[in-house]
Amino acid sequence: MPIDAPLSCECGQVRGRIAGARLPPGPRFTCYCLDCQCFAHWLERPEKMLDPYGGTDVVLVYPAHIEITHGRERLASLRFSPRGPVRWYTTCCRSAVANTLPTPNVAFAGVQRTFVAVADDDAAAYLGPPVGGVHGQYAQGDAPGAAPKMSWAARLSSARHLGLGFLRRRHRPSPFFDEAGALVVAPEIMPREERAALKDRIRTAAVDG
Ligand SMILES: [Zn+2]
Ligand SMILES: [Zn+2]
Repeated sequence: MPIDAPLSCECGQVRGRIAGARLPPGPRFTCYCLDCQCFAHWLERPEKMLDPYGGTDVVLVYPAHIEITHGRERLASLRFSPRGPVRWYTTCCRSAVANTLPTPNVAFAGVQRTFVAVADDDAAAYLGPPVGGVHGQYAQGDAPGAAPKMSWAARLSSARHLGLGFLRRRHRPSPFFDEAGALVVAPEIMPREERAALKDRIRTAAVDG
């Protein structure tokens, strides 16, 4: 029987659930890529969002299984470039929510572990265990178990998840797109110079650390 996993921003104004899914929903990774680290720093929440090696815990969930029941008007989004993924967060407390693609036609959302309101001890029961770290070449130090780029295990589990999502039409309804297929909030696109400065700051921190 499907069970729900509660979703909440830190202040509780934006809430919802992973509903209708058989949990765990999809593969769960720790992503060490620079953009995920930049996002945490841009939100001014690195200590909440990142592990000691700069990793972000993300679980793939079909958009059709994500319900935002409260505070939808407090969703906002950012892109680091006109071609990058759309990174969703809340305007109330700058909690990260999820990453999506800019198109409504792919059953992809990488939900932030920190947006899933379950205790660390319960996270594996709801979300499955992390299948490992990806983009480990950007980790701050030697992150245990982190593969450079995407490991084959991570690629295969993601491909399977996306393939099944496509066959089962789980890309909609989505809390991030309206019925016409437009993003519910137009993303802010970070100016190139700002992104470069942010990346430099994180690389320098990695070297210093
Ligand atoms: Zn909030
Ligand atoms: Zn990443």
